[in-house]
Amino acid sequence: MDRISNAIGASLAPSASERVAAVFNPATGEQVAELPLSTVAEVDAAVAAAKAAAPEWGRTPPLKRARIMFKFKELLDRHAEDLARAISREHGKTHDDALGEVTRGIEVVEFACGIPHLLKGEYSRNVGPDIDSYSDRQPLGVVAGITPFNFPAMVPMWMYPVAIACGNTFVLKPSERDPSAPMLAYELFREAGLPDGVLNIVHGDKEAVDAILDHPDIKAVSFVGSTPIAQYVYSRGTAAGKRVQALGGAKNHMIVMPDADIDKAADALMGAGYGSAGERCMAVSVAVPIGEETAGKLVETLIPKVRALKIGPSTDPDAEMGPLVTEQHLNKVLGLIDKGVEEGADLVVDGRGFTLQGYENGYFVGGSLFDKVTPEMEIYKQEIFGPVLSVLRAQSFGEAVDLINRHEYGNGTAIFTRDGDAARAFADGIEVGMVGVNVPIPVPVAYHSFGGWKRSLFGDHSIYGPEGVRFYTRLKTVTTRWPGGIKDGAAFAFPTMN
Ligand code: NAD
Repeated sequence: MDRISNAIGASLAPSASERVAAVFNPATGEQVAELPLSTVAEVDAAVAAAKAAAPEWGRTPPLKRARIMFKFKELLDRHAEDLARAISREHGKTHDDALGEVTRGIEVVEFACGIPHLLKGEYSRNVGPDIDSYSDRQPLGVVAGITPFNFPAMVPMWMYPVAIACGNTFVLKPSERDPSAPMLAYELFREAGLPDGVLNIVHGDKEAVDAILDHPDIKAVSFVGSTPIAQYVYSRGTAAGKRVQALGGAKNHMIVMPDADIDKAADALMGAGYGSAGERCMAVSVAVPIGEETAGKLVETLIPKVRALKIGPSTDPDAEMGPLVTEQHLNKVLGLIDKGVEEGADLVVDGRGFTLQGYENGYFVGGSLFDKVTPEMEIYKQEIFGPVLSVLRAQSFGEAVDLINRHEYGNGTAIFTRDGDAARAFADGIEVGMVGVNVPIPVPVAYHSFGGWKRSLFGDHSIYGPEGVRFYTRLKTVTTRWPGGIKDGAAFAFPTMN
């Protein structure tokens, strides 16, 4: 069984904590690793290492920092399969899905390779007589990231490549459920030439998170996880004077208009609803067909597809969906399906009894489909984070838009239609941060930025891309005049051009 270490300063650092957590293979239910729940002193040591490394790293020319990013990217490409296997073993997602996650993480590293260009400032000559002005973006110092289980490689890579390329040093607290992929990526980054202390990893739970939030030497915190914890992290971190971006949960709706190609819409819902067993913050969990005829056709098309889902371990190349991440999470999802039945939703495909021969101890659940869900139901209000798609029938486009705008979450949404006017009105009026038009999972590419609205993001900055650069830097503006331009005598009025 693997024992996971922290990574502090120059080396891997076995933890002295007496508290540990078990990491499981969700397909078999076997424990595969043990992870330390680090102490406050260990967080302090990681921050001290990051602080010691910060001045020199911040002074290192961006081009040199970029060269290390290029090498890191090459190594990630070379080890993409290893990373995907590490993800699947502890998360449970299929190998292809894990490889997709690695690719999207690598794309952020590619973006960060352009850091010399991204940090270029602005210059104005003659803002006054013989006076010039320039502004540039400087690193913050030590910054931290706290990440969820569902993208153990990609979500940390939404953060530290950009932060580090900007000249900051970083402390990462990964999810305690699947720590091996971020450790492997760390080793590759070090192999690429990253100096000691620039990236540090501390495993742990609330104790480590609180130590990060309260630490006076950490200037900014990026968080991705569930909404209650995102809100907590935002409040506590900002109260301690930090810059915080905290991305939370989601309930993503997809409108299916009467003119949409129903087969294509149903296929899109299959991938977006059941891919990664629904454990994606951009998963579509609510389909909103417009009108009874569209709803009837959509549900009839979905039922056989959900029944035919190929469910299996990540080692099965034909599997379309794996298990849920933990037994606890499996029980939560099963409980919510029970709740939906109690509330009177129509469970047209029931995944509750699913078992897989040879994997009886795995955390598998079958794909489930609810029809005739209403906005008052818990299964509509809550993020289920499992392979459970709800169909909520709306009678008009306007009713569907109002429904989405009233939901507490505003991460992603999509519309399937052939009508350009409807698509444009949707993109304009919907109160959601990431919108797809005939694109079910509109995750922005690395050179745009990712972020939801409402209770899906606390803070003013989206993550990665140009917004990431802004989040991890602060603006400095310098106004210069040289002795030849300085007039004799003191001036007491506020400086103007007049
Ligand atoms: P989580 O909130 O349970 O955990 C996220 C992180 O917070 C982990 O590192 C965990 O150790 C830490 N944490 C957990 N409880 C804590 C507490 N009480 N105090 C302090 N820290 C605590 O989330 P998860 O189950 O790992 O991930 C799934 C959630 O993440 C879903 O809600 C999903 O929508 C969300 N998510 C959002 C995005 C996004 O971009 N908006 C992306 C991925 C996942």
